[in-house]
Amino acid sequence: MADTTRNVIIIGSGPAGYTAGLYSARALLEPLMFAGYMSGGQLMLTSDVENFPGYPQGIGGPEMMVEMREQAERFGLEVQDRNVEKVDFSSKPYGVWVEGEEYRAESIIICTGAESIWLGVEGEEAQKGRGISTCATCDGAFFREEEVIVVGGGDSAMEEATFLTRFAKKVTIVHRRDVFRASKVMYERAANHPKIEIKTFRSVKSWLSDESGLTGATLEDPRDGSTENIDCTGAFIAIGHKPITRFLEGQVETDESGYIIHKENTMTSIDGVFAAGDVVDTRYRQAITAAGMGCQAAIDAEKWLESQH
Ligand code: NAP
Repeated sequence: MADTTRNVIIIGSGPAGYTAGLYSARALLEPLMFAGYMSGGQLMLTSDVENFPGYPQGIGGPEMMVEMREQAERFGLEVQDRNVEKVDFSSKPYGVWVEGEEYRAESIIICTGAESIWLGVEGEEAQKGRGISTCATCDGAFFREEEVIVVGGGDSAMEEATFLTRFAKKVTIVHRRDVFRASKVMYERAANHPKIEIKTFRSVKSWLSDESGLTGATLEDPRDGSTENIDCTGAFIAIGHKPITRFLEGQVETDESGYIIHKENTMTSIDGVFAAGDVVDTRYRQAITAAGMGCQAAIDAEKWLESQH
């Protein structure tokens, strides 16, 4: 067991975590962050970030995460690139276990984010970030005048497809049923768009590629197993996200999809445990909104700690 109780432990990196780290370090709380083995979160999978204010030429996602981390470390954030395996919020100070080692803190900020759900079909792994993406806002502009597909039938798929019409020559929505979870208004906006075609009763069986990158997909009709190939140089998978909350083992209240619920400002159902970024966000899911919420969580944690002493 680590011999000191920390003021604050931040679990998870990414824009929310690093901003929480920056603010709590500048508040002299000497925060400790467990950034995870793959620190930096979803932005590590993104090429250029062009919608974060302050970077007129854009910035690479991984580069931005390195710089956010450096900035927070300059003010004293201690970062360990290790995963938290479990927590114990049943007694104070709260317990956090990392590779079997026990740490204790007065307050916790959870910034573990959410991960996109991928299809997991043949050819996907090799093309991730090289044609196959889960974020049209991040990567859509790379497909100017190209043909792209969007997989899914929910609001995310409709939104991504509609957004992609700004760049792509043609957008095909591929959905495994003919019933859509998407709201009517978002479905109709996509369905009525002249650049969008919707193919129902189609699942992606495998991705096709050559040395230049993605070239298409083999689609299967789930009703009879028949297949067809479709050409595309970009593909966006929009079949949902899952928040990274397994390690909490139900100790913090979440919604039915596993997203942490804020009870008061950024505080969770547990006194002194805060959460920020995509692990609570079912709506915006942007680097800038996550960073903003990380700032809020650090300020809330600081005020809460003050109120305890
Ligand atoms: P969602 O509503 O759960 O839709 C996921 C879609 O992906 C469904 O059509 C589902 O098909 C399909 N799917 C799931 N697994 C699949 C697989 N393995 N292969 C092929 N297709 C698969 O998720 P979402 O669209 O990300 O939306 C999540 C929440 O955020 C919703 O509450 C939504 O309203 C909200 N949201 C709101 C907005 C907005 O208002 N601007 C934008 C985006 C999201 P089935 O229907 O066949 O299961």
